[in-house]
Amino acid sequence: MEQWHRRTVDEIIGFWQTEVNEGLSSKEVKEKLQRFGFNEMAAQEKIAWWKKLVAQFQDFMVLVLLAATLISAFLGEFADAATILIIVIINAILGFVQEYRAEKSLQALQKLSAPTARVLRNGNLQQIPARELVPGDILIIETGDKLAADCRLIETKGLEIEEAALTGESLPVSKAASLLCNEASALGDRKNMVYAGTSVTRGRGTAIVCDTGMRTEVGRIADMLQTAEQEPTPLEIRLAKLGHLLVWGCLAVCLVVVLTGIWKGEPLFLMCMAGISLAVAAIPEGLPAIVTVSLALGVQRMIRRNAIIRKLPAVETLGCTTVICSDKTGTLTQNTMTVRQVFAGSHAFEVTGNGYDIKGEFLLNQAKVNLQREKALQVCLTVGALCNNSVLKRNNVGISGLWRRAQADSWSIEGDPTEGALVVAAGKAGIWRETVEKTQPRLGEVPFTSERRCMSVVYGQKGLYTLYTKGAADTVMEVCKYYNKGNVEVILTPEMKEQIMTAHDGMASQALRVLALAYRKLGPQQVNKDALDESVERDMVFAGLIGMIDPPRSEVKQAILSCRQAGIKTVMITGDHRDTAIAIASELQIYQENSSYALAGHELEKLDDKELDKIVDQVAVYARVSPAHKLRIVKALKRRGHVVAMTGDGINDAPAIKEANIGVAMGKAGTDVTKEASAMVLADDNFTTIVAAIEEGRGIYENIRKFIRYLLSCNLGEVLTMFIASLLGFPLPLLPVQILWVNLVTDGFPAMALGIDPNQRDIMQRPPRNPEESVFSRGLSRKIIMRGIQISCSTVGIFALVYLLQDNLQLARTMAFVTLVLSQMFHVFDCRSEIFTAFEVGLTKNKYLVLAVTGSVLMQIGVVYHPFFQGIFQTVPMSLFDWLLVVAISGWTFITSGVRYAFRKKRYMFSQPKRA
Ligand code: ATP
Repeated sequence: MEQWHRRTVDEIIGFWQTEVNEGLSSKEVKEKLQRFGFNEMAAQEKIAWWKKLVAQFQDFMVLVLLAATLISAFLGEFADAATILIIVIINAILGFVQEYRAEKSLQALQKLSAPTARVLRNGNLQQIPARELVPGDILIIETGDKLAADCRLIETKGLEIEEAALTGESLPVSKAASLLCNEASALGDRKNMVYAGTSVTRGRGTAIVCDTGMRTEVGRIADMLQTAEQEPTPLEIRLAKLGHLLVWGCLAVCLVVVLTGIWKGEPLFLMCMAGISLAVAAIPEGLPAIVTVSLALGVQRMIRRNAIIRKLPAVETLGCTTVICSDKTGTLTQNTMTVRQVFAGSHAFEVTGNGYDIKGEFLLNQAKVNLQREKALQVCLTVGALCNNSVLKRNNVGISGLWRRAQADSWSIEGDPTEGALVVAAGKAGIWRETVEKTQPRLGEVPFTSERRCMSVVYGQKGLYTLYTKGAADTVMEVCKYYNKGNVEVILTPEMKEQIMTAHDGMASQALRVLALAYRKLGPQQVNKDALDESVERDMVFAGLIGMIDPPRSEVKQAILSCRQAGIKTVMITGDHRDTAIAIASELQIYQENSSYALAGHELEKLDDKELDKIVDQVAVYARVSPAHKLRIVKALKRRGHVVAMTGDGINDAPAIKEANIGVAMGKAGTDVTKEASAMVLADDNFTTIVAAIEEGRGIYENIRKFIRYLLSCNLGEVLTMFIASLLGFPLPLLPVQILWVNLVTDGFPAMALGIDPNQRDIMQRPPRNPEESVFSRGLSRKIIMRGIQISCSTVGIFALVYLLQDNLQLARTMAFVTLVLSQMFHVFDCRSEIFTAFEVGLTKNKYLVLAVTGSVLMQIGVVYHPFFQGIFQTVPMSLFDWLLVVAISGWTFITSGVRYAFRKKRYMFSQPKRA
């Protein structure tokens, strides 16, 4: 059966043999998965691992080296040829492993941010990975969802879909389940269908999945199948450019070395080999791969801390963040709402109990109330229970009144926690939506949106209908004309309004989120299921106010403090009332009465961009804002030169999230569309995770600087060694194989270990980095050049000393060879911090580094003493004195800083007062 848009819902249900209220059973799902496969696009052809390994040998410099190997073999230098070949192979394997790890972690990332879908299966609502959808599944669609399959609609409530990806039409299209389309209907006209790849901009609905995977309409458009490639980060681009520059610089220096050697009468072949080896050693070919690996590994560390990076460049930007604009509900607070106060019929009731547990009582002036007598309270709670889509669960089983007295251990809410709190509060008074629905069905809904700040539902039958509305007090009060006193409804006088607003402000200033509730009787002509909209919300009867607490997350206060120390400002942006927002912001120390502003959405609207720019640095709280305001706030902050991280969950937050330097979406509460627009997703919706990610972002950047410093200063040292020696008229201080070996032991594991160096303790005590700054700023280039000169002078110095005094070229080369390696091994520890010495940072903090350096030193000793390697590398054994000399010259800066550290420590210990 095809042409789903021409079929009735019943026909399709019959065809797929499914149940609207139950969905498919696990067995049916299994069968269908076998028959239709996973709901995914045909996988791109995977490149075989061996092809990637071969690709390592296609690098220009490696090819030159291979040609050199061939020439060596041709000239009978078999040992040289074999050594170079082995070194090239090991280098290629190292490069391959680095790239493979990077790719694997990026793949793992993509899996983590894979889309999900809500379906009915075995009679239960379930959230499943979208790839497991099968035809016949009953899909529940909500605002902000990105659809993962082609579906026929069963029921809609104000459903609007943006289908630009499919039809090019950017305006949302409203959908209706009851329509039947004809054969000729184009994709854009099929109002009873929704398609994979499109997103829900408004409303909700239920639909039956008809086509999945390659059989969907997008699946047929082959071009759209290829997933976007991971874009290189700005740093990767800059380093690639730097790489080109270094290649040409190195080649020029190598040429000078080669020409001087030849001019001085060295053998042509030896000089060519030396030139090529030097070029291979000097060009930091490992740089891009290590950058990617440390980015990818850092990203994995972030995942462990619940931050999922969707766009790799964000990792760099994270370290530059100067402002975090955070939602309040759920991010700074726990989002476990509990009703504490109810204002109804001019009485303010206290509500006891904790979390979503339905144990609790209603008190008036400290005394337990008789619920039967408090009619106004009952009505208020009933509105809250009915105008509600959340389900209370105990140990994951739905609760609907029958289980009321059961002992609870784990209560949870499926749906919006604000509504959950209302279900629980009503439950405490024995009022349950499911009980009411047995006699009166729900006929329609005007859904909640952050812009409207309220929602309504219609219940009733046989001509007697009621509209129930709940929402932000300011919004609901505007549409109320009457007031429910308990037994009678009276006109809402200005005095009464004032009394209500006083009650409201009292609750809000105690950090309670306040909702107002109202209702209205409707006639049959006003209840039109398909055309129900906000125009019915008028002349309503005010039923009461409900105040609920949403405590701040305990760990957030510390995180905000650590942001402040790190020069990062925290701004609260919330749809909640200003007083509630200020109360919580003060508790979290985001807001201080004398030094910061709290701006409400309507005040923001009155400001033009210039006026906003003037005060934006002082505003700590934005209250009652809608998603459109968020966009203005981000833009203003950016104009003031800030690097902004902005959180969001709703579909309308997507533009602001896109505009922010780091768009942060909520993993749990966020919609698919928001997640797609974001650079980072918080798996736990928690503010502290943003701070953790910033810390990791700073750490990753620091590590990149560390190994750039290490690699470049070492390579410079190698080039200068050869260059200076040739200028001074010495023979080659290092043989080609020795140069290649130095490159292998120093550029490989020690550099990689630096890439995963643990973060320094003070990393969150420094101001944010300027995004425009170069990787070499803050004195890094000076450090690289000075160290390069130092390494080369030590190496040439030792070489000259032994060569001139002992006239022993082989020993001179061996000692120069060891000096060059050891200088780099000492230097790698210095690279761990730009401020502190290796000893202050802690020599053994990076276990991998200690392991890599120990391994490299042992290998070097092997090369000097093992007869087999002596033959290959032309080394000779060194005496103890030789070693002492080499260690002293290559590590003098390291050794002196160690001695200084030891003395300081001793002095510190002696200056401590003795304990009694
Ligand atoms: P955040 O602090 O994360 O921005 P918020 O929950 O305060 O989120 P919104 O969800 O936009 O912001 O809610 C704005 C206002 O709308 C709330 O202060 C509340 O008065 C009202 N409201 C929230 N949820 C509902 C709901 N489910 N039904 C009716 N009104 C609601």
